[in-house]
Order: sequence, then C-alpha cells, then structure tokens
Amino acid sequence: MQLRCFDPDCAAKLDLHSPALACPKCDGLLEVDVEFPSVDASALKTLWSERRMSRDPRDISGVWRYREFLPAYPANEIVTIGEGNTPLVRGHRTASFAGVANLQFKHLGWNPTGCFKDLGMTVGMTEAVHTGAKVVACASTGNTAASLAAYAARAGLVGRVYLPAGQVSLNKLAQALDFGAEIVEIEGSFDDALNTLLEKTNEGIYFLNSINPFRIEGQKTTMFELLDQLDWKVPDYLVVPGGNLGNSAAFGKAFDELLRYGFIDKLPRMIVVQAAGANPFAQLWRDGADELSPVTEPETVATAIRIGNPRSWKKSLRGVRHTGGQVLDVTDEEIAAAKAVIGRDGIGCEPASAATLAGIRKLRVSNQIPEGASIVAILTGHALKDTNFIIKSQQRELAHAH
Ligand SMILES: [Zn+2]
Repeated sequence: MQLRCFDPDCAAKLDLHSPALACPKCDGLLEVDVEFPSVDASALKTLWSERRMSRDPRDISGVWRYREFLPAYPANEIVTIGEGNTPLVRGHRTASFAGVANLQFKHLGWNPTGCFKDLGMTVGMTEAVHTGAKVVACASTGNTAASLAAYAARAGLVGRVYLPAGQVSLNKLAQALDFGAEIVEIEGSFDDALNTLLEKTNEGIYFLNSINPFRIEGQKTTMFELLDQLDWKVPDYLVVPGGNLGNSAAFGKAFDELLRYGFIDKLPRMIVVQAAGANPFAQLWRDGADELSPVTEPETVATAIRIGNPRSWKKSLRGVRHTGGQVLDVTDEEIAAAKAVIGRDGIGCEPASAATLAGIRKLRVSNQIPEGASIVAILTGHALKDTNFIIKSQQRELAHAH
C-alpha cells in the first residue's frame, strides 16, 4: 500500500508512512491506495466472521477485524480499545415518523468515547505510534477531541486539542479533560481552530484531523461491519449526517473497494444530510456547482456538524455521485423534532445524528424515497454527548405546557 493524491489528474504517489498532510505536487487530499492483485471475497467473509470468536484484541476490534483492507502494522503497535462492534437497531416510532417501513440505525455513538471518531482514531493513532510521534493534535468541535484524548492516553502520547471557545458541549470538553488532553481554546469557529492548527504543522506535531488518510481508512470499516451484519445484502439507502464530510468520504471509498473486489454487486444510494445553517455541501449540490463555497459563520444546534468549510467535500462528492445518491439540508427545528423521536424509540443520539431521520422524512414527504425502501441511517454520537440540549428542550416543552 502507498499514499496517492486523490486528484486523478495529479495521481502523485507517496510512501505509505510519509508525514505529508496534503499532496506535495498539487496540495490536494491524500488517500491510502488499496490495490490487490486478487482477493477471495468469499474466504475473507468467512474469516471475518470467524474472528468474532477470537480473543485477539485485533479480532475483537470492529475495525482491525477487517485489517486486510487496512495498512499493516506489528500487532504490538496497534492502539485499540475495542472500538466498532456497534449494533444495528431497528426503528419503530422513528420509521412511522419518517413514513417508511424498513428503517435501521447503525449507532456509531456506542463506541468507546460515544462517537464514530474512535473508528478512525484507532488507525490514526496507530500510525502516529508507528512513525514515532510524541505529540498528536487536532482541531475539533468536541467529538474528535474526546476521541483523540482517549487514544493518545492509551498510546502514552501527548494529546493536544484546538477547540472553538464557548462552542463545544461541556460533556465533550469533560471527556477530553478526563483523558488528560492539553486544551487550546481558539476565538472563532471550528474552521478558525483548524487554520490555527494547520499553521503549526511544522513543529513536530502529528496531525489527526479528518483529512488524515489513516483516519479515513478506519472509518471506512464501518461499511465493512454494516454489510457483514446484513449478510452482505446491500440496503437501498444509506443516510449520513454531513459536517466535515470525512464519514461520507470514507464510506464512498469502502463501497468502491467492496464493489471492485467482489464483496457486493450493487451500491446503496448514499444520502448526506447537513444542517441548514452549515450547509455548503447541500448548496453545492443544489446549484450543481464545481467548487464549494464555504459558509463563513456556520450556525446550528447540531454543534458536531457546525462546520462551514468541510475539507473532505471532494471525496464525499465522489461517493455521493458514484452511488447515485444526493445531498440535502434540514432546519434546526426538523433536527430537534427528529432527535426527540429517536429518544422515544429507546435509541437516543446527539443532535447532529438526528439530521439523518429529519432528512429521510423530508425525502419521503416529497416522494423521493419509496415507502418500502430498505434504509440504514448512521447515528454518529451518543445522547449523552450533549445533555444541555436535552435539558433545554425539555424545559421549553414544559414551559409551553403550562
Ligand atoms: Zn496531487
């Protein structure tokens, strides 16, 4: 395996463990090049299934179980805390709320730190260890910070997180503190925090933001585990919340590889749902534009996707187009209503995750999804990630009732 530039017109190749954050030729995104002469898909499906009976920490991890499609590391370098293995949960009230018959949630919020970020962080942190890093850093709206802090602590590295001051849920901040991360507050938005961090990359810090190609590889395994759970029967639709677009980028790459090597014979339509106040990708889709115009002051109650300048939009767009999917946005009111129903279904999630259900309802109302379609929605964060939002919503409801 090696790193390659994502831009097919450039296609520069780099050593797999090169520390570059972007293509040295064109400054474009990098990705891990997974090329095999041949793959026995049926044998691998059986092997992955059998690994669920194993006590090897790599087999217990829902990421490293699929390690044939990940960069190879010595077993003692792998930083894992049992991430992945998240269940598929059928929606009942949620399905009738959205007007669909066959809705399941893949709840990535049931990972070690309560968020999908752990799936990428286990691979990114392992790469950091492998390359001899001492300090790892990220800019974050909170979830990445909590995940980086946990995995850095496990690896014995210094974790440093750049957060937009006053815009991070206290639950996430508390997690980062609990895991012993150094916290640097930046005045401004997530995008400002990221820019501040990018200026520091020549100071010997290993950068673990979502453009890190190793994190994308870990997140990619979500689709391996999902299809494994579905006995490799591909759902009609996959619905994903869209913030920095790392997840949809990773899922698009997973579909590409699974189709190419014969694990599946069709693709689910991938639908990305953004919050209306932080919707540059939905705007691009509506306008049919070729370039993303950032939203300069993103605003939404779904803080995990309050991002105005998503870095991975080109990769995400490739996946959406390749699968015949689409991009849309939903309002904060629609997100809050959907979140409440997910809670009443006994599932629960953070506000950003509920954008998926709001999006499904919107597409169903406008008849863009058939009632009987099989739909999997990705929930990215646990309900306890933003308790303030829940308490405030309940207080508002009580105030209305009296
Ligand atoms: Zn390039």
